[in-house]
Amino acid sequence: MSFAMTHAEKEGFWNLWFSELHKGHVGMTYKVKSILYSGQSRFQRIDVLDTHEYGKMLVLYGSVMFTEKDEFVYHEMLSHVPYFAARSPASALVIGGGDGFTLRELLKHRTLERLTLVDIDEMVIEKCKEFFPDSKASFTDPRVTVEFADGAEFVRRSDRQFDLILVDASDPVPPADVLFKPRFHADCKKILAPGGVFAAQTESPFYNPDVFKEVFSSLSDLYDVCMPYLTWIPTYPSALWSFAFCSDTRHPLHDFDREAFLESGIGARWYNEDIHVASFALPTFVRQML
Ligand code: SAM
Repeated sequence: MSFAMTHAEKEGFWNLWFSELHKGHVGMTYKVKSILYSGQSRFQRIDVLDTHEYGKMLVLYGSVMFTEKDEFVYHEMLSHVPYFAARSPASALVIGGGDGFTLRELLKHRTLERLTLVDIDEMVIEKCKEFFPDSKASFTDPRVTVEFADGAEFVRRSDRQFDLILVDASDPVPPADVLFKPRFHADCKKILAPGGVFAAQTESPFYNPDVFKEVFSSLSDLYDVCMPYLTWIPTYPSALWSFAFCSDTRHPLHDFDREAFLESGIGARWYNEDIHVASFALPTFVRQML
């Protein structure tokens, strides 16, 4: 009797699934090829899984942070929408974003001379560099400086000014809950250079309307222009994801530099000049929340 198995048979035996619960009673389930890493940092549980449909994914505290298959949508939208309305920013601050993918997108822009990333968890960066080649490449660029700190504390004590501030935070649970609060938003405004743009991921308006409303209430008290924009991310809860665009001097549509985008050659796979404009069109139920 032989116990040699074909590849297909092995896959049948390795019947491992990962489920992320989105609201307690609903979720998304992935068939897992292998568990590449599981561990615990000072701040959170960290898992790196290889899945059949979405490729490798980073899971923090049981929530999917990104997958290889769809991460481009989130990172392009968080980076290029504010960039092309800010008009040639030279400096950028990324709060969170320890995977390095927001940096990867920003680094495509030659006007950006200085990029500072502040993530609370050194281990997230280590593991992303180990398992995701794009991540490793971002952190080796000489324009990038990394600080390991709580983003809320960093902006409170910083006396530097940034042309772009992007909040690439995990969900509003510790340790990222502070990044959704009015105090943090006010401290970010203090270090935003004149003519600067602030953008942040603001969760799913469909599943998380209270957070969405609180964040927009806080930000609209601070900025003359404060507008949500939306995108589609299949692995995020409800797939409908929101961001905030805020500035005192730049409007995301009136100041959108379409020519600069068309000449940029950034090689985006989701973002383009039509998506830039269309992402500010809001469904009625989202308008009613504001
Ligand atoms: N795209 C993601 C999403 O929406 O789920 C965000 C992913 S990114 C990996 C989130 C990062 O925020 C993590 O690396 C985490 O360590 C970092 N983070 C969480 N709380 C933080 C805080 N208070 N200050 C700085 N970084 C924080």
